[in-house]
Amino acid sequence: MSGAVQRLQYPAEPTSHPVDIAVRDDKLRIVWDDGRDVLLSVAALRSACRCAFCERDRRNGQEPVVEAGIRITEIRLVADKAMNPVFSDGHERGIYPWEFLRKL
Ligand SMILES: [Zn+2]
Repeated sequence: MSGAVQRLQYPAEPTSHPVDIAVRDDKLRIVWDDGRDVLLSVAALRSACRCAFCERDRRNGQEPVVEAGIRITEIRLVADKAMNPVFSDGHERGIYPWEFLRKL
C-alpha cells in the first residue's frame, strides 16, 4: 500500500457572477459582473439540463424533450455558485453553475 491519498479536485472559483437574472417570456436575460448582457432561450436552457435524469437519457441516446412554449416559472439560487430553474413542464432538477451558463 502506498498510503497516498487521492485529492478531490474542486472546480476553480467562477471568474464571473450574474448581477441580474430576469425571465422574459421565453428568454432568460443574464447581466454579468463584467458587463456582458445575454439573452438565452428557455428552450435551449431546458435542453442543456445536466441533471441525473437528463444525463441518463443522453447516455441512452435520447435528448431531453422540450415542450413548445416552455417557460421558467421560478429561479432558485444555489448559494452564490449556480441557479436552479423550475420549468413549466415541472422539470426542476437542473443545476446550472455560472461557469456552465457562461458557455451556453
Ligand atoms: Zn434534467
